[in-house]
Amino acid sequence: MPYSSKEKQKEYDHQRNKHRQAYFQKQYQNRKSYLKAYYQEHKEQYKARNKKRRIALREYGRNHALTIGTQRISGVFKRPYTGYCELCGKVFDGENRKLAYHHWDDSDVKPGKKVKGIWVCEKCHRVCDMVERKELYIIQRYLKLKRMMNRKCKIQEKIKPELN
Ligand SMILES: [Zn+2]
Repeated sequence: MPYSSKEKQKEYDHQRNKHRQAYFQKQYQNRKSYLKAYYQEHKEQYKARNKKRRIALREYGRNHALTIGTQRISGVFKRPYTGYCELCGKVFDGENRKLAYHHWDDSDVKPGKKVKGIWVCEKCHRVCDMVERKELYIIQRYLKLKRMMNRKCKIQEKIKPELN
């Protein structure tokens, strides 16, 4: 202990900590304002970099991530992105993310594994899911119902003048 008494030492420590704190505070402020100025100066550069990263991340997700239910599984390998729907041929260019990777085998979906699938648009994806859920009878039922209604309306039209 370089000081003669405990009190003196305490006082010294207190003063020293105060100075240190002020010093670091100043350093921090300097650093902060320096970074702010630096950012302002290189704003466009940062914006371009962030955009590039954002696109790269999105691209990675598109090629390597699949969502099953609520779970997002990353690191899988899809077939190369086509840019058009492989069922109806609709083209989606550039950063448009409206194409989905339709897959039919959940046991395929593991990191590092290839996943069998096709690139489809939203509309066709719904059809694919209907086929997988064996719900195509709904379409047949709709067509049948439509035919029935058309016939019914015709009958009503025929009946109407007679009633009046
Ligand atoms: Zn389609």
